[in-house]
Amino acid sequence: LPFTVVAWLSIFPLTALEVGICALVVFLAMVVERLLGHSVLWGDLVGPLWLLTLIAGTAMVSGMSQLHYMFSLVRRVTFDALTGALTRRTGIDLLESQFRLAVMRDRAFCLCFLDIDRFKTINDGFGHDSGDAVLREVAARLSRTLRQGDAMIRWGGEEFVLLLGDTDKEGARVVVSRLAANGFGVRPDGVPVTASLGIAERRVDHVLHWSELIDLADRRMYQSKVGGRNRAVLGEDDVMADLIARPNAASRAALNWA
Ligand code: GH3
Ligand code: MG
Ligand code: MG
Repeated sequence: LPFTVVAWLSIFPLTALEVGICALVVFLAMVVERLLGHSVLWGDLVGPLWLLTLIAGTAMVSGMSQLHYMFSLVRRVTFDALTGALTRRTGIDLLESQFRLAVMRDRAFCLCFLDIDRFKTINDGFGHDSGDAVLREVAARLSRTLRQGDAMIRWGGEEFVLLLGDTDKEGARVVVSRLAANGFGVRPDGVPVTASLGIAERRVDHVLHWSELIDLADRRMYQSKVGGRNRAVLGEDDVMADLIARPNAASRAALNWA
């Protein structure tokens, strides 16, 4: 039975320490059982101990590889492999709980929808790998700019959603200014990357459900596009235009700046 018990450990995703502790308990139980039955010599226990160690070692390797596999699955579901941002599925769960918490505590809660401008031209002009590199750089700059409690979600191909807890419209304005000051990186042709942003806030925009917050921010992001891109729309007549400074006329012509 002791050997079977230790072998069973191999079907669970356990750490080396957990398997070690279980094996030790089984071994001690085996020693006690033999001592109670009839006195044994240390030499009599060496054989069973070796066998137990061998089985425990195998169970350890099996348990650890299962644990490693589970971790990698969780990581894959939670984080986007290209940008390191939260995946949409995990992001929605987080948004739902953060929104509910903000309602319960009657705190401000801002959501920022960000879409990179004319991203397709990067793929078309310089290849998919260059597009990926630009995406990675944008994500890295976004996450460097956000506070620790904020979250960044890769919503779609070149769309990101930022969750800004405890942040009102004025706070969001500061975040947008910081994003603009840090920039979004440059395209392979040297043109600065720009983005269009839409921002919605739970209280001032009278939003009752998290999905409405997303929809409103998305609509405002679209208004940014229609209004000329490279801007953030925070509400009716509340626009922060020209987030990334336009290069001068000569550079614009050379860079084919839209
Ligand atoms: P707009 O300013 O109107 O947003 O124009 P856009 O070109 O950015 O928008 P559009 O939605 O037409 O293009 C988005 C492109 O993003 C299309 C798609 O091929 C590309 N894309 C989506 N996901 C990825 C990705 O993971 N890597 C790369 N390189 N490209 C991606
Ligand atoms: Mg898009
Ligand atoms: Mg785009």
